[in-house]
Amino acid sequence: LDDLMIRSEKMNVAGQLAASLVHEIRNPLTSLKGFLQLLQAGAQHKEEYFNVMIEEVEKIESITSELLFISKPLTDNRSKEEVTSMMQDVAMLLQSQANQKNIQIQLQSSTNAPVLCDRSQIKQVLINLVKNAIEAMDQPGQIIVKAKENDDKIKISVIDEGCGLPEEVLHRLGEPFFTTKSSGTGLGLLITKKILSNHDADFHMYNNEDKGSTFEIIFPKADGDPDI
Ligand code: ADP
Ligand code: MG
Repeated sequence: LDDLMIRSEKMNVAGQLAASLVHEIRNPLTSLKGFLQLLQAGAQHKEEYFNVMIEEVEKIESITSELLFISKPLTDNRSKEEVTSMMQDVAMLLQSQANQKNIQIQLQSSTNAPVLCDRSQIKQVLINLVKNAIEAMDQPGQIIVKAKENDDKIKISVIDEGCGLPEEVLHRLGEPFFTTKSSGTGLGLLITKKILSNHDADFHMYNNEDKGSTFEIIFPKADGDPDI
């Protein structure tokens, strides 16, 4: 994949994605074919084989559904949206996943200011970040989702108490298919970056001083926009 990324530096993002997609899907397909051949030959451990095969199909499934999201021309349905209400929706959506790991999602918002955005896309961004936060934590604790306004900006921070971002991970984040998880797709942050740059929002990530990491989104405030 490294080689591929270097060679494809001059390709557009779509070209890069298509190229790495071939690799990512070929592995589970090769393995599926192997298991099918074993079953055809009358293999013994059918149950085990079926389980692995289902996992491989699920891997392909999640890659393709996330890619669909990337390749869809972003139909922008923008309106003025309060960040707090999007944060509440996302916290509710991920509540049970957090509960299972004894993690509390805490919302802290000191602003009603709206941002001009596509609500479902920004919710997708928050889902990606909070999901990553949950996945990064292997002990009970808190995820804080915080919104703040100053001057003409609105800042949303997702702060976790997880494993943090190692140095080599930090500069590869957002590369297609870069993942440290056995069942990860490595597409979440890529999608996140794409959506945010379409919204003229800044995106930062850094390690906290004590533990865990912080992902920060900085939106221009909607009131400042002359087109509305
Ligand atoms: P995936 O979650 O499928 O691995 P992402 O693009 O969402 O793909 O994330 C890529 C990688 O970035 C993760 O595999 C993980 O190594 C790292 N990462 C993302 N968010 C966090 C976080 N909050 N804490 C620690 N590492 C993270
Ligand atoms: Mg993710």
